[in-house]
Amino acid sequence: MTLKIVDSCVNCWACLDVCPSNAIYPSATHFKINAKTCTECKEDYDHPQCASICPIEEAILDAQGLPLNPLGSLTGIPPERLEDAKREIQAR
Ligand code: SF4
Ligand code: SF4
Repeated sequence: MTLKIVDSCVNCWACLDVCPSNAIYPSATHFKINAKTCTECKEDYDHPQCASICPIEEAILDAQGLPLNPLGSLTGIPPERLEDAKREIQAR
């Protein structure tokens, strides 16, 4: 098992060019990772490059099914504050 891109991917194309294994490809729904060619970047980098550039939290899961960019990791908003923060932003 390897990394997986899930439905929350917004098809921004950012990860496509940074993958050293050309393992990422567009599909009808969202971008996907070819499990046969993905190396998890282990030979080239100390962190998966797709996850490093992906702007969407929880769009890429690791081999255990855990998000590489968990909720709050990119926005800096703790998950328990997210709903309040959304309300505050909408009220502006
Ligand atoms: S972990 Fe690395 S090799 Fe695998 S899809 Fe992401 S960028 Fe490509
Ligand atoms: S960088 Fe993230 S959101 Fe953009 S295409 Fe890749 S997985 Fe999808």
